[in-house]
Amino acid sequence: MLGPMMETMTWEEIAQAVEEEYLPVWVIGSTEQHGPHLPVATDAILPLELVKGLARELRIVIPPPLQFGFKSKALSGGGQGFVGTTSLDGETLIRVVRDVVAELARHGFLHMVVLNWHMENINFIWEGIDQARRTGRLEDVTVMSIDRPLAAFGDDELAWLFEDDFPGWAMEHAAIMETSLMLATRPELVRMDRIVDDAAAEHPWYDLIPEPSKHVPSSGVLSRATPASREKGLRLQRMVTEKLSEAIRKEFGTPKHEVPSGFDAALGERVKS
Ligand SMILES: [Zn+2]
Repeated sequence: MLGPMMETMTWEEIAQAVEEEYLPVWVIGSTEQHGPHLPVATDAILPLELVKGLARELRIVIPPPLQFGFKSKALSGGGQGFVGTTSLDGETLIRVVRDVVAELARHGFLHMVVLNWHMENINFIWEGIDQARRTGRLEDVTVMSIDRPLAAFGDDELAWLFEDDFPGWAMEHAAIMETSLMLATRPELVRMDRIVDDAAAEHPWYDLIPEPSKHVPSSGVLSRATPASREKGLRLQRMVTEKLSEAIRKEFGTPKHEVPSGFDAALGERVKS
């Protein structure tokens, strides 16, 4: 069976994955500016890389990630003013989520995980899953919805990452955490020569619509990015993968599988034949 990427599997292989109780983990991100040093797909790439790592130990199938998300807010993603930030209306996101989880259920998967990275998506994802459930398309299916995997940790557990200067998750955009994880998983995508520390002139506790320029740092980086490192990213990757694995095994009993030699999740190569 080819895996873990569903896109490279045949329908027969997917049927076999259902039979063998593989778990679909569907990644939802955004196409959103992430400063001058990270790609716009950062919110989709990072969770995808984490799940690929997880697929090395658990029986996981990865449906095609959703690379579009709800609109960027000024105070947590720089807002909609940047070239490249390409967003969905809330209704569209709800319907895409509703339809994809319902289709995964139709294949016969009884458990699934929806793993989100982009904060602004959270309630629309919930609503999409709930609409699928209320219209009877998720019968006997349990969905684990993860708003943000970093919510698994208390601030004190991540003090080492921010060197005791945690700006809050909303401002951790294109900053230390995301840059470190990208350095750990896809270092070739980080423009190290373009990295900056930045901040909006004002970062109040309320939003203004439309967003005033004083709420938007011109680089798109919402706080400090330069203390990022590959070492921090690798440590965080291990911590997050462990938490995800723990939660999935606890709720769904998804078995660990023997990884045959030559398996490389990142390349979507042969899991087992
Ligand atoms: Zn992000």
